[in-house]
Amino acid sequence: MSAQRRPLVAGNWKMNKTGVEAREYVARLVAHLGNGELGVDVAVCPPFTALEATARAASGSPLKVLAQAVHEAASGAHTGEVAAPMIVAAGADGTLVGHSERRAAGETDAQVAARVRAALDAGLFVVLCVGESLEQREAGETETWLTAQLRAALAGVRADEVASLAIAYEPIWAIGTGRTATPSIAQEACAHVRTVAGEFLDAQAVRVLYGGSVTPDTAGALMAQPDIDGTLVGGASLDPDAFASIVRAS
Ligand code: PEP
Repeated sequence: MSAQRRPLVAGNWKMNKTGVEAREYVARLVAHLGNGELGVDVAVCPPFTALEATARAASGSPLKVLAQAVHEAASGAHTGEVAAPMIVAAGADGTLVGHSERRAAGETDAQVAARVRAALDAGLFVVLCVGESLEQREAGETETWLTAQLRAALAGVRADEVASLAIAYEPIWAIGTGRTATPSIAQEACAHVRTVAGEFLDAQAVRVLYGGSVTPDTAGALMAQPDIDGTLVGGASLDPDAFASIVRAS
């Protein structure tokens, strides 16, 4: 973490929580956050069905609300997909793009790039997710892979959009496995992400997050690394008290 960049902690609920559950969650989380005096940007990413309820519940609080995915088209025949203007209309502030669970379901680098652009054009904040598989890491290809994902996704992003975007380094082998990357492995990869992002954006201004089995116990040591500006949290974000502990550790 650097004093120059405000920390960001985002909780990805994945396919969990109804609108009713989201309202209860937000009330509990917001009680922990106060008026934002923790000095940390905090966001949750509900499923589409709970997006509007979450945004309404968070309205007037410091809590931001992000969708988990977005389609590149503004409307049309794309069954099951949701467009950026719909996310805006639901009252959300932004969206994840390129989460590895979406890439595993077929989302390509070209689609990620188009979706980043569509989200930014709609005025949404973007958390772009990148990360390598265990096979790629063991083959010594982590940096090559991250470089390719980042260059593809950031090619259409303008330097003046740096404040509208954060990049989450999420090694696939650490997501949902309980196998958190060590602070030094996470730092090394996040430093590389920052260097490559610097080809497109001010490297010292762009926020780089780590994601992958972050817990209240591991968050502090990760956040102490110079190139880690926050965390993207899956499982441990489902309980508002545990998630608030991660925010406090940030
Ligand atoms: C995620 O889904 O982005 C994630 C990091 O999940 P988890 O914290 O459960 O590994």
